[in-house]
Amino acid sequence: MAGVIAEIGDRVEGWSVGDRAAVGWLGGSCGHCAFCRVGDVVHCPERKAPGLSYPGGWARSITVPPMRSHASPTSSTSSTPPRSAARA
Ligand SMILES: [Zn+2]
Repeated sequence: MAGVIAEIGDRVEGWSVGDRAAVGWLGGSCGHCAFCRVGDVVHCPERKAPGLSYPGGWARSITVPPMRSHASPTSSTSSTPPRSAARA
């Protein structure tokens, strides 16, 4: 899913309000378990998925971990992208 950043947490770096961002089906992991330490975040016992762990693409706004957000192109076929917030 893709949207526009409306708010940013105090410890988030590299993102600005108004940036377009996208989140894939893997919407977060703990970053410190044995799986995460070797890059196998899919098997993290604390992995998150949009629509399951937090609201998904139909929500008016969502909060996502910044490490799972990716820059999104400025052009899109979506006329009203959801607003999102990154928190760390
Ligand atoms: Zn983990």
